[in-house]
Amino acid sequence: MSYISKDELQKKACAVLENLDCENLKAKDRMQIPLQEMPSQDPMVRRHNMQEVAIGYTPEQAKVEAERCLQCKNAPCMKGCPVGINIPKFIKEIAEGNFQQAVDTIKLASLLPAVCGRVCPQEKQCQLYCTLGKALKDVDKSVSIGRLERFIADWEAENSGAVHIDIKPATGKKVAVVGSGPAGITVAADVRREGHEVTLFEAFHKPGGVLMYGIPEFRLPKDIVQREITQLKDMGVKVETNFVVGRTLTLPQLLEEEGFNVAFIGSGAGLPTFMNIEGENLVGVFSANEYLTRSNLMRAFDRKNAATPIIQSNRIAILGGGNVAMDSARTAVRLGAEEVHLIYRRSEAEMPARIEEVEHAKEEGVIFHLLENVKRIFGDEDDCVTGVECLRYELGEPDDSGRRRPIAIENSEFIIELDAVIVAIGNKSNPLIPQTTSGLEINKWGNIIVDSETAETSIKNVYAGGDIVLGAATVILAMGEGRKAAEAINKRLTEL
Ligand code: FAD
Ligand code: SF4
Repeated sequence: MSYISKDELQKKACAVLENLDCENLKAKDRMQIPLQEMPSQDPMVRRHNMQEVAIGYTPEQAKVEAERCLQCKNAPCMKGCPVGINIPKFIKEIAEGNFQQAVDTIKLASLLPAVCGRVCPQEKQCQLYCTLGKALKDVDKSVSIGRLERFIADWEAENSGAVHIDIKPATGKKVAVVGSGPAGITVAADVRREGHEVTLFEAFHKPGGVLMYGIPEFRLPKDIVQREITQLKDMGVKVETNFVVGRTLTLPQLLEEEGFNVAFIGSGAGLPTFMNIEGENLVGVFSANEYLTRSNLMRAFDRKNAATPIIQSNRIAILGGGNVAMDSARTAVRLGAEEVHLIYRRSEAEMPARIEEVEHAKEEGVIFHLLENVKRIFGDEDDCVTGVECLRYELGEPDDSGRRRPIAIENSEFIIELDAVIVAIGNKSNPLIPQTTSGLEINKWGNIIVDSETAETSIKNVYAGGDIVLGAATVILAMGEGRKAAEAINKRLTEL
């Protein structure tokens, strides 16, 4: 699709609005209203900056998009929302121009709408079930629920004053939350509201989890994440950074010696997986975690001012096809690589990355190598990467994940010359907490086992949620798990 500027999109939206008889719209009229595209930076411009790619709807665009909603009585979209936002209600409020009410409706169910509106895979969640998308036989034509959520969250940040959240009187009970990603943030807020004392322990020097260290600035500006952390602090949550639970103090020490009544583990899945192929230890091979953490958390993209360096590559390969791979590839583009090769052994249909991110990566010039995989990495006499040997693949029958199994084609080897390789094939749970907490049960993938109703672990009064339980999943699922755990924790604390 060719690039359309924000001004042009705004003009089109105003023209549609002028001709809409909003009071008397029937379902068939709503189905004719054109979907509102998200204004974004020109791909040729954004390749050279770290600013946010998507710019966000104007109020007129949001209103037009909201008028597309059919206000279905059974609201199938809500079934696809892991935290149960009342979607038709907040969309109707936008259509009527009652933006503050729309904020309030969303906030009843979701604590981080500005984040979720930007990074949730809506096309696989709420929008997948949307009646409009089904009627138009195209999920891409569903009501743009995520864009509307983002619009309303940004409107609140610009227009509402400081948000006041009621905290119940102090109970004297203490809760330790390990990890400050979406799961930990959700638990901290929901437990603090009940008047309990909450301390959030974070290993890094800045709180926010993957929202800070993994997802790049151009997809999720860091001031949005820090706004949420500030709100937590304003609620009275204590945040202890540079505190590695299992090293600084262990979980049993927090519970037995530091007076915490209950603990929640939301330590995520931050341990990178490697391919275990020849050459993976050469200079110039990085895990996506290290590459992205340097760029996002340490702001190494700002080469002159950053305290940490990041590789200056001209020809770089990213191995993988998920969000982490897309983020790494698009970061490499912005760091000035002339050629960015994304190598994925299945086809585009099997890619786990969000469709929007794949489209954006293509627009920004990332070269996609589908049905190809790296067999070995090779280097020069100084052990620096000089290239990769790849194999071509074809798809066979579906495997355990339901995706068609990639099968290597014999004698299909070929070479790509490179100076850096980023491995982005997945993350596992960090074993530190299970290793230092006797009696904490984990499954064969290292994820903590919890009661599916209460999120309590094999140790009484210790709960867990998010990626450490689900494996690498999504922001909204981590929040949903956190909400469930918080409810159970609040109930338990009344009994202690
Ligand atoms: P995390 O966000 O991982 O937070 C865990 C925190 O715990 C971290 O800050 C970590 O430092 C801290 N910690 C770990 N061990 C300890 C310890 N021992 N002591 C103290 N602190 C500790 N999801 C989406 O929905 N949409 C996306 O577009 C998307 N893109 C992604 C891009 C990248 C690059 C990555 C890596 C993930 C992406 N995800 C995306 C997945 C999503 O970010 C995660 O599912 C989500 O952040 C999990 O939340 P969490 O709270 O469980 O853990
Ligand atoms: Fe609106 Fe789609 Fe939800 Fe129906 S399913 S209420 S059209 S968003």
